[in-house]
Amino acid sequence: MLDVSRLSQPTLRLVQDAGYRARLTVDLLQLDPSSPEATSARDTIDAAILEILVAAGLPRGPINGPIVERFGRGWFGRKTEDCSLLIDIGAFDLLPEDRRPDSLIRTWLHESIHARQPYAPGFQAEWRDARGFEEGVAEGLTRQIVVDELKLRPVLSGYHSYVVAYQALARALEIDVEHLWRQFWTIPAGGIGQAFTVVLSQVLTTHRRVSLGALTGRRASALAALQFANRRGSDHPDLDALTAAWRQVLR
Ligand SMILES: [Zn+2]
Repeated sequence: MLDVSRLSQPTLRLVQDAGYRARLTVDLLQLDPSSPEATSARDTIDAAILEILVAAGLPRGPINGPIVERFGRGWFGRKTEDCSLLIDIGAFDLLPEDRRPDSLIRTWLHESIHARQPYAPGFQAEWRDARGFEEGVAEGLTRQIVVDELKLRPVLSGYHSYVVAYQALARALEIDVEHLWRQFWTIPAGGIGQAFTVVLSQVLTTHRRVSLGALTGRRASALAALQFANRRGSDHPDLDALTAAWRQVLR
């Protein structure tokens, strides 16, 4: 839970003053990235993101950057294997102008959550097959902070099905989904799939005082691999149906 009232004055200004947020966004997205105005906007936004994440108890790890440029690769932001945090200023041209400032904050925060630790050794395999394990956690926590707590209105463009898959699992477990996301956040990006049953087992023991049997663990792992598979990325998820599937497995 994020106590917004305890944020510093510069961060509060960025969060609460839409006009100021819009001015910084224009400086960042429309000026030469090496100009003093764009550099200052980048540093102001990054300092606020860092502070918000610390206040939320989800601090960012070390990064190279943030590097703000026109990459033209079809994404808004990326956190790379060498811990570079990239923001593509060109991608935001595709969004309505009045949604760009909040969408920029959303992307910056999302990528910073990926950057909580260096990537896990097996991250390439997970990224290739089931990136939903990581994206569902990063986007779930991002929406919690940006939409629910800071009350911003970004365009929510991706990973909805993975967010809902975690919400369904939390409903089946009868726990708060934020708690579930925070447990998985302790695992580095690319390692959640491998650690899935270990974390699930800890959550079950803590909240429901039951342990995860070997057979249930294997079934849960198989269902998770399906729900977090890359091909599910553009699904329109049905929360009730997904919850029922998890209840069936965890019975
Ligand atoms: Zn991501």
